[in-house]
Amino acid sequence: MSVMEQPGTTSRIVPVRSLDVAAVRRDFPILNMRVHGHPLVYLDNAATSQKPRQVIEALTRYYTSQNANIHRGVHYLSETATAEHEEARERLRRFINAAQAREIIFVRGATEAINLVAQTWGRTHVKAGDEILVTHLEHHANIVPWQMLCEQTGARLRVAPINDAGELIMEEFERLLNPRTRLVSVTFVSNALGTINPVSDMIALAHSRGIPVLVDGAQAVPHMRIDVQELGCDFFVFSGHKMCGPTGVGVLYGKAARLEAMPPYQGGGDMIRSVSFEKTIYNDIPFKFEAGTPDIGGAIALGVAAEYLQRLGMDLIADYEHDLLEYATRALRAVDRVRIVGNAARKASVISFVVDGVHPHDIGTILDQEGIAIRTGHHCAQPVIERLGYDATARASLAFYNTREEIDALVAGLRRVVEVFG
Ligand code: PLP
Repeated sequence: MSVMEQPGTTSRIVPVRSLDVAAVRRDFPILNMRVHGHPLVYLDNAATSQKPRQVIEALTRYYTSQNANIHRGVHYLSETATAEHEEARERLRRFINAAQAREIIFVRGATEAINLVAQTWGRTHVKAGDEILVTHLEHHANIVPWQMLCEQTGARLRVAPINDAGELIMEEFERLLNPRTRLVSVTFVSNALGTINPVSDMIALAHSRGIPVLVDGAQAVPHMRIDVQELGCDFFVFSGHKMCGPTGVGVLYGKAARLEAMPPYQGGGDMIRSVSFEKTIYNDIPFKFEAGTPDIGGAIALGVAAEYLQRLGMDLIADYEHDLLEYATRALRAVDRVRIVGNAARKASVISFVVDGVHPHDIGTILDQEGIAIRTGHHCAQPVIERLGYDATARASLAFYNTREEIDALVAGLRRVVEVFG
């Protein structure tokens, strides 16, 4: 804990909280593992984060003392599971500061959320000649569903370009907004480069022309405080497993009026109010979009993950990770033959890099022998990697439980890579 003088006062000392990373790490059992005889250094957080014991225990608690199907039973377990599931929805509402819990739809993850919007909102609002605008920074999950919609409707996918640093060119983005643009769908943070897009400005520009905006928050929610009301976006999507929650569960946020006006995605149990062979009446939101038995334990554990992150403090997490990213960037730049790919002025927790003369897969394999987990390849974002002149990179992605010592281990591992391929 550090202290600082409050400006404008004489002798008041104000405590400044910071993240107690040693204590945080004790919450993550997997971080004690050894891999190939070395302490695990987990730097693949953009692919999926590790889980704290609070989340693991929530899953165990659900399956040992709460398991039942929800919304349908009158017995004790069903009522308990239903209450916990709806409490989780409220926790997720708080996590992104949505106005109402019914604006939180549980889905499998960011991918399913985007497909849902493309196939419900998209199929009813987009027609031949219309345009969907994305950026060159998108994950495949925010490209392919729109391409599929374009194939189905005759609409056209437009792509806002980036510069060589991996930053969106705002003038070009603005130029591409036109009377045919039906939707802007944009990632908040690039999973391949770490670039933070100026989404507030993009939303303001799109809204000033009456164009709705979907924000892909998959790589934003683990790293920064999100307030969807402040952002004003129409849709916001994310996956639980990248923010310390389980796999198989995530969230589609949509403004209530938009969700209410959309047709359902899948048909089945729970999404209906009544069914007859003549006519089916759909349920209200959020249930209209939650056909079938959901991942009940997963949603409950995701609620616990959201609360865990909020208790640590998203602003403290952001500050800590920013400092760690700067440390890592400086350290990697100092390694001979290492080049960082993507040098945006605003970045979050991701460093893509190459080592001259070494294939990224070989970098990953050698680091693995040292117990260091990074990702190599195109990171499900082939267009942006190719735009910067590569077909693959190595990627170290950080979380709030990573330390400077782990960055030092990565740097030592990279020096070994350079030695081996000398
Ligand atoms: N969007 C971004 C920016 C991502 O990084 C990812 C996953 O890496 C996704 C969407 C898709 O997430 P999921 O596979 O959990 O649906």
